[in-house]
Amino acid sequence: MSIEANLAGIRGRVEGAARRCGRSADEITIVAVSKTFPAEAIRAAYSLGIRHFGENRVQEFETKHPALDDLDATWHLIGHLQSNKARRAVQLFGAVDSVDSLSLAEKLNTICAELAADHPGRLEVLIEVRLAPEDSKTGVVVEELPELVEAMLDLPHLEIRGFMAIPPFFEELERVRPYFRRLRELRDEMRGRFITGDSPLLRELSMGMSHDFEIAVEEGATQIRVGTALFGARAKA
Ligand SMILES: *Cc1c(COP(=O)(O)O)cnc(C)c1O
Repeated sequence: MSIEANLAGIRGRVEGAARRCGRSADEITIVAVSKTFPAEAIRAAYSLGIRHFGENRVQEFETKHPALDDLDATWHLIGHLQSNKARRAVQLFGAVDSVDSLSLAEKLNTICAELAADHPGRLEVLIEVRLAPEDSKTGVVVEELPELVEAMLDLPHLEIRGFMAIPPFFEELERVRPYFRRLRELRDEMRGRFITGDSPLLRELSMGMSHDFEIAVEEGATQIRVGTALFGARAKA
């Protein structure tokens, strides 16, 4: 299957899922997860209208991005960020979707301040929430979320756009639904507590991948992260 045919299928399924729950497909951004795929695949998706791309490793994107410099896209870092790569990440990415500690957030904020001349504007970030502590190693646990949100909202160079989560993989798709719903409830709780008015802060929900994005859309996803359904199977590392 071609990227074009795959994308048409994904868009159709997003529209269907949105319609089922009274949403508009315009509310949902497809983040094309291009890890392991070459710059040409990214260009192909770009030519079909995709403007958001997700990469999970700083070094891999560092090698690809010179060939993509002319594209007007938002590059999202979706994988765990080690603090020693934070500077490179700020230089390469417009959004870090995997912030999971105050120390990392503070580091990013400091680097943004230092690089403000070259990279004006605030760095968009999402807080990665660990919804199933027994099954995953990354993300902040729910108990620590309010404190982290409150502290991060004070960092002037970061724009806390919302939340991201990677729930466990289930063969039986419906079993993932409570995790997506939980993230939406947490978002609503945090917005209610910390945000007044029509602010773009704490609004985004990045959830849903190739196998489960329709359920994520039904539960309120505003960004879905789609790799294999768009680009095909990844070679094993
Ligand atoms: C690889 C990856 C995806 C995309 O996974 P697919 O199953 O290929 O759609 C989404 N989110 C994160 C954080 C990833 O690392």
